[in-house]
Amino acid sequence: MLKNKKINFVRDGIRCFISCVLGFFLVSCGTVPSKPAAIQTGNFYASFPGASLPRQDIRHVMGPGETVFRVSKMYDVPMDAILKANRIADPKELRIGQSILVPDAASLRCVIPLYPSHRWRYIVIHHSVTDTGDASLLDSIHRQRGFDRGLGYHFVIDNGTKTRVDGQIEASPRWIKQLDGAHCNAAGMNSFGIGICLVGDFTHERPSRKQMDSLVLLINTLSNYYNIPLSHVIRHKDVPGKRTACPGNSFPWQELKNRLRDKR
Ligand SMILES: [Zn+2]
Repeated sequence: MLKNKKINFVRDGIRCFISCVLGFFLVSCGTVPSKPAAIQTGNFYASFPGASLPRQDIRHVMGPGETVFRVSKMYDVPMDAILKANRIADPKELRIGQSILVPDAASLRCVIPLYPSHRWRYIVIHHSVTDTGDASLLDSIHRQRGFDRGLGYHFVIDNGTKTRVDGQIEASPRWIKQLDGAHCNAAGMNSFGIGICLVGDFTHERPSRKQMDSLVLLINTLSNYYNIPLSHVIRHKDVPGKRTACPGNSFPWQELKNRLRDKR
């Protein structure tokens, strides 16, 4: 039922999607445009050119919050074709980690849903402190920690490990349902801060170039849509009352700020 509501919400509404071409599997990520995509409040769909592959049958592993509708948007394939190819009678029975066939799939696009809201005032950046991972792995880790709703971040930016491509942006169920995060208790940040986690341990390593490109794109998309000033784009460790090194001492903070400033 919840998935149907979500699908209807998107259909009815809003189609608030920004797309980026990431390429598929080991194909390189699309180039981030020099300026943020034009944003039109309420109804927009922006994409930018990047690496593309001929259409082909591929397999997709379902992540947290992903639905057949979302997968159909990611690969530009009709929902009916996916349902038929996998003999899926009830899309609600799909589970995280399940592999499905996506017939005649276009190059993977990153789909970022945006929902009208006045609650989001900050963007908080984290690292996963794991060398590998994706939203599915972080979801299971957070559940083991006792987070009833699983994955505590609103978005995850992958590093090309597990089943995801480098720079892929995954929207979590908390974002899709517009729920509080579970990424930063301090200063009440969970209720008005959008939590973005980059997969990796940036204590000594840097994020990949594609992760940074996607982070810039995601922050610009969110900050434009929700009117979040650059001063409210912060690291986890910048939150008052929080004693943490997250997102790690090797995270290129000044470089990110410069890139965000250049695009304003
Ligand atoms: Zn953190």
